[in-house]
Amino acid sequence: MQKPLPIMTKSSTAVRTRFAPSPTGYLHLGGARTALFSWAYARHHQGVFILRIEDTDLERSTPEAVQAILDGMAWLNMTPDEGPFYQMQRMDRYREVVAQMLEQGTAYYCYSSREEIEAMREKARTLGLKPRYDGTWRPEPGKTLPAIPADRQPVVRFRNPIDGVTTWNDMVKGPISFDNTELDDLIIARPDGTPTYNFCVVIDDWDMKITHVLRGDDHVNNTPRQINILRALGADLPEYGHLPMILGPDGEKLSKRHGAVSVIDYDTQGYLPEAMINYLARLGWSHGNDELFTREQLVEWFDTRNLSKSAAQWDPKKLNWVNAHYIKSMDNSDLASRVAPRILAQGGNPQAADLAAIMGLLKDRAETLNQLADGAMLFCAPWAPADSDLLAEHMDEQAVTLLADFATQAAELADWNTDALDGVIKSVLAKHTVKMPKLAIPLRLAVTGQKQTPAIATVLAILGRDLVLQRLQAA
Ligand code: GLU
Repeated sequence: MQKPLPIMTKSSTAVRTRFAPSPTGYLHLGGARTALFSWAYARHHQGVFILRIEDTDLERSTPEAVQAILDGMAWLNMTPDEGPFYQMQRMDRYREVVAQMLEQGTAYYCYSSREEIEAMREKARTLGLKPRYDGTWRPEPGKTLPAIPADRQPVVRFRNPIDGVTTWNDMVKGPISFDNTELDDLIIARPDGTPTYNFCVVIDDWDMKITHVLRGDDHVNNTPRQINILRALGADLPEYGHLPMILGPDGEKLSKRHGAVSVIDYDTQGYLPEAMINYLARLGWSHGNDELFTREQLVEWFDTRNLSKSAAQWDPKKLNWVNAHYIKSMDNSDLASRVAPRILAQGGNPQAADLAAIMGLLKDRAETLNQLADGAMLFCAPWAPADSDLLAEHMDEQAVTLLADFATQAAELADWNTDALDGVIKSVLAKHTVKMPKLAIPLRLAVTGQKQTPAIATVLAILGRDLVLQRLQAA
């Protein structure tokens, strides 16, 4: 799946954003929201949205997790313009830059052993200082470095500025500063030569000409280190925006305890990707009081100024409300095509009746596609006669007479539709001076096998003349 990086001219000023997940699990809701904001920002500026898979943690990265990310992005219809790029396929490039930095003196070999590093940390701790590398191997003008120990593979450290502050104007949080004394000389390559996490991110953002980085605020501490490395490379700095996390309804960090956290699980549960996008966008972003908007509106309105500084809260009830809205406003046949596979999965036949008409009947009261599928099973499930207890209770002599009369009148209908069938029901009730349940319950039992259904005339209209008369005959 390797794709060459596009050749870009240095002068290009187009907005370029990226979503850079580590494939260590499913695509969780927080990740999907980060992706959405990066995507919307790029789209708003007619820029480029890039997908980069940060798979250098070999122990925790899996091909399944990569697939879960790709599936989740595809489900939400957030197609990257470039990528996916895989960091594991860019190792040569990272090594090349490490070599350049060693040559330029912005990085250096460090031969301190694990024990020595531990001792430095311990010493800092006893002095009440932040545990950090003491600079033993850091080259300085006029300084003589220790003799290189035999048989020890060095790490490569970045020569971080030792004074001053690193500051950026965060697109979400505003100005943020770190004293450079707080930042260690970061290891950028391990003894075996493999590059470390922050280094790969920097080289990728540089090579991919990223102009705007939107990511979770768990990365705030990485940003000054990344900025310093970019500066050492003479690279342009992207703008950074750090998104506060998403909390569960109980105010705790969103996790499995709060239900599904993988976006694709929401597909399984019957949520529409359109609704999910709308809902996710409101987690930490706003446009006035607008709660419902299309994807196009999101793109048109998306602005980092309206990103929230405080944590967003996951609200399953609101998600259901948004989903119900999208279901209600969706065209019946479109809805039918999305529900059909769910009916099949339940062992039903989506072609058994006019599925679009069934959607029309059910959609005003459904919150999920799965509820629609459940409701449609009344029409699509293999025929199962009513429970014998129910039949014994409701199919008395009078019921049989009413059904026979209903069948006779219905058979004569010129047009088989809800209004006409309602007319027949009324006429039978009037003729026998009985109330609705006396006819409706036996009718439901005879025709659907169930005691409760949506409006019976509509149900009969959808089931169709042949089937209804045939079942009435059998009853
Ligand atoms: N790979 C990182 C993560 O999944 C994101 C890195 C970044 O956006 O800079 O948390």
